[in-house]
Amino acid sequence: MGKHLVFIGGGHAHMMTLASLSRFTAKGHEVTVIGPSPYHYYSGMGPGMLAGMYRPEEIRFATRRVVERQGAAFVLGKAARIDPLTKTVHLENGGTIPYDVLSCNAGSFVPHSILGHPALPALHRFRTTGRAGRRAVGQRVFALPNVP
Ligand SMILES: Cc1cc2nc3c(=O)[nH]c(=O)nc-3n(C[C@H](O)[C@H](O)[C@H](O)COP(=O)(O)OP(=O)(O)OC[C@H]3O[C@@H](n4cnc5c(N)ncnc54)[C@H](O)[C@@H]3O)c2cc1C
Repeated sequence: MGKHLVFIGGGHAHMMTLASLSRFTAKGHEVTVIGPSPYHYYSGMGPGMLAGMYRPEEIRFATRRVVERQGAAFVLGKAARIDPLTKTVHLENGGTIPYDVLSCNAGSFVPHSILGHPALPALHRFRTTGRAGRRAVGQRVFALPNVP
């Protein structure tokens, strides 16, 4: 009997597996990928995008399309909690997704509350006005000061 494989995050660490999900679906396994965007942006090309070398659509891969064309399901949303006892992923929107096998690679996140913290005096937020901010398509960008 097929299993239900659930992936939290459709980014770098899951990329190679997502590219060959049909190996699982062809064997009768159900596959679900959870992510907050149909696209994932390649971090390595982020600096090039901010510098104006690439447009945002040139540095992303189409996670949702890659997943769905292999017979798997893409759920637009964010995992908020995992209950290992009932083997259930709880989404931020209140939905739930049961799993048999779960893989979590949801990247990292810089909490805004640490900005200005005395223990981290070197951490600043780029101003979102100007060219860099516009090219960052509304996302916040962090960097150490005095770095060109
Ligand atoms: C500029 C830059 C350059 C880098 N260069 C290198 C390098 O050369 N070599 C190297 O090894 N590493 C490099 N890294 C680090 C590398 O990008 C990370 O280690 C890697 O992306 C982590 O993989 P991941 O799939 O966990 O996270 P990500 O690739 O960030 O993907 C996480 C995905 O999960 C989604 N997500 C987030 N929260 C949730 C949630 N609650 N529910 C569902 N989905 C969620 C996100 O939207 C995203 O699509 C670089 C990072 C940066 C920023």
